[in-house]
Amino acid sequence: MFRTFSRRALAGALFSLSLASATPAAAINLFSVQQDAEVGRQAAQDAERQLPMLRDGTTEGYINAIVQRLAAVAPGPRFPYRARVVNAAEINAFALPGGYVYVNRGLIEAVRNEGELAGVLAHEMAHVAQRHGTSQATKAYGAQMGVGLLGQLLGGRDQRLGVGEQIIGSLGLNALFMKFSRNAESEADRVGAQMMSRAGYDPMAMANFFDLLAAQQRGNPSAVSQFFSDHPSPQNRSASIRALAAQLGRGRGTQVGGLQTVQARLDQMPAASRRQGLARTASRLRRR
Ligand SMILES: [Zn+2]
Repeated sequence: MFRTFSRRALAGALFSLSLASATPAAAINLFSVQQDAEVGRQAAQDAERQLPMLRDGTTEGYINAIVQRLAAVAPGPRFPYRARVVNAAEINAFALPGGYVYVNRGLIEAVRNEGELAGVLAHEMAHVAQRHGTSQATKAYGAQMGVGLLGQLLGGRDQRLGVGEQIIGSLGLNALFMKFSRNAESEADRVGAQMMSRAGYDPMAMANFFDLLAAQQRGNPSAVSQFFSDHPSPQNRSASIRALAAQLGRGRGTQVGGLQTVQARLDQMPAASRRQGLARTASRLRRR
């Protein structure tokens, strides 16, 4: 865990910079790319200690084969993307800075084809590529400190520490589990759809998955309630992804293949936890 640094250590400089007026809020990120990887690694360790992880090589191997195809065409820094599976029944997924992607077993069981699974992975990886986690933490820190102090932090920080470490030191790792803004979600849909197309998937599959979620919400609300509390309504998203997918065109690549085998395998395992879903743990981490 990170130490908490005193605010006096952070402030105390002559330098003043008005970040809010200079740059749109969404673009501010005081973490370096390397700090994304570092704080992500710490948050991932923290999450995996608390989540019921499904450590199944076949399932992880399949998911990561899709992840690697998407990673090869992801924009932004070359993060070492890798996905792990949480043994939870709810349909959900999340990502941490630096390339750590988590998919619930319930989501793998729910998708109807590899494209839908790739759509969710691409969306989560787009959050990582666009560095939404640390830019959200920067924003939260700015709101807490006030813009003036944030400016002082930039000028007068302890040179032995990165700004990112100081922010996490102050807010805690829970800052990386915050709900993303609506803008960040739309951007992840958009960038994710582009990644799908480039990797050879039909981005329409992402929209199809949102339609599936909407249908699930009517039929089996408890399986998707957490997803809906973490993400904007899928109906609106589905419509805008469809419009974008029509422009992008469908990718012509082959599939990794093997979804049915993985789903049959999961079917043979003892039922997944319904009470310890990752989103629940994420909100517990959030409250800390
Ligand atoms: Zn998202």
